[in-house]
Amino acid sequence: MQLDLTHQGVDDGAELAGCGPVYFGAPPESAAPLRQLAYERIRSAGQIPRVELARVLDVSPATVTAVVSELIGAELVEEVEGTARPGARGRPPVALRVRGGAGYVVGVKIAEFKHTAVLTDMAGTTLASATLSRPSQARSLKAVLAETGELVREVTRRADVSERKVIALGAGLPGLIDHPEGRVLWSSVLEGEGVPLAEKLTEALGIPAFIDNDTNLLTLAELWFGRGRMARDFAVVSIEQGVGMGLVLGQGLYRGAHSLALELGHTKVQLDGALCRCGQRGCLEAYTSDYALVREAHTALELDSRLQLSPQMVLESLHDRAKAGNEGARSIFRRAGRYMAAGLANVINLFDPSLIILSGERMQYQYLYAEEVMREMQGLIVGRGRKAPDVAVNAWGDLVWARGAAALALEVAAGKLAGRSIA
Ligand SMILES: [Zn+2]
Repeated sequence: MQLDLTHQGVDDGAELAGCGPVYFGAPPESAAPLRQLAYERIRSAGQIPRVELARVLDVSPATVTAVVSELIGAELVEEVEGTARPGARGRPPVALRVRGGAGYVVGVKIAEFKHTAVLTDMAGTTLASATLSRPSQARSLKAVLAETGELVREVTRRADVSERKVIALGAGLPGLIDHPEGRVLWSSVLEGEGVPLAEKLTEALGIPAFIDNDTNLLTLAELWFGRGRMARDFAVVSIEQGVGMGLVLGQGLYRGAHSLALELGHTKVQLDGALCRCGQRGCLEAYTSDYALVREAHTALELDSRLQLSPQMVLESLHDRAKAGNEGARSIFRRAGRYMAAGLANVINLFDPSLIILSGERMQYQYLYAEEVMREMQGLIVGRGRKAPDVAVNAWGDLVWARGAAALALEVAAGKLAGRSIA
C-alpha cells in the first residue's frame, strides 16, 4: 500500500489548471443542459480548445461551436491563445476559458472563535479574504446575519467588487445542517433549533445563500481545489474536537437522505464502551477526539487539577511528553491510533474509496496516522490482496472552510449563469 504522508499547502490543487472536479468520460444522459456541462468542463480544464471540448462532451464539433458561441455571447466564456503542443507547427489553437469576472461568489465559515470569508471569481480564483474574531459562544440569528453581512462587505471592498455582482453565498457551520432545506437543525455556534438560516441570509443580504456543515465544506474544498479533484470516489476524515467525515461518490458530495450521513465519530467501535458527548457509549469519537485524550491525560500525567489547564494545553503537554518518550503518554496516543485504524478500516470496508484524505488541526499529532496505525488499518480491511486506498494528510490553512463554502456557491452559480436560457 502506498502511504503518502506529505503535508500539502493551501494551493495544493494549483499544479492543475482550472478548478472543480476533473471529469472522467462523457457526461451522463439526463444531466444539466449542455451549455452548463460545457461551461463546467471549460472551468475544470482551465483552458481548452473547442475540438478537445467536443471530445470530452462526446458531441459533434458543430454542436460545440453553437454552444460556445452562446457562452461567449453571454460573456461567460472568452477565447485565449492556447498553448502550442511541443513539436507542432503553426499557431497554437485558440482555447476557451471561463471569464472570471462574469460573476463572484462569497464563501463564509461561521465558527466558534472566528468567522472567515473568501471572495472568489467564476474561475475559482480567490480574490480576497477576511476574518472576524468573535467571543466563544452560540450566537443569536441576528448576530450571525450581521456578522456575515460584515464579512461580505469586507471581502467585496478588499477585492474592489460591487456587492451587486455577488451571485451566490455559501456558508458553513458545525453541527447538524439540512443542506437541501437550508436549515440548521442544531449547531454549537447558533442559538435555537431548526433555524432556516439560508432563507434568512438570502433575505438579509439580498444574495441567494446556501448552507452546509463544516466537514462537507472541507470535502468540497478537496473536490474543487485539492487532491480530490482527480479522484472519482474519496473520503475526507477530519479530526478536530470531534471526528468528522465527508464522502464524494462519482465526483459528487454524498449527504444521505436527510443530510445527516457520515457521522463517523459516532459509529460504535466498542459496545457499552466509553461515554461519548452525544450521550451514547462506545463511539469512535469517545476514543480519538480531544476530550477523550484530555480525559486520559489527566490520569496518566497526574496533572495538578488546581492549574486549571485548558484542553489545548493538556493536549500539548501530552504530545510533548509522548515525543520525549513518556510511556504513559505514548500509550494514550497508541490506543487512540488503534481506534482510528478501526474507524478508517470501516470506511474502506463500506465505501471502497480510492483515496482517504486526513485533514484537520489534529494532524500535527502524527500518532493518529503513524505507520503502525496504517498497518493496523490494513489488517482490518477485508478482501485478500485488496489494494488499500492511498491515505494522504492534508494540513490546509485557515481559509480551507471558506474556500469550500465558495465551492458550494460556485456549484450553484454555474447553473444559474450557464444553465438558464442565455440565447
Ligand atoms: Zn457519540
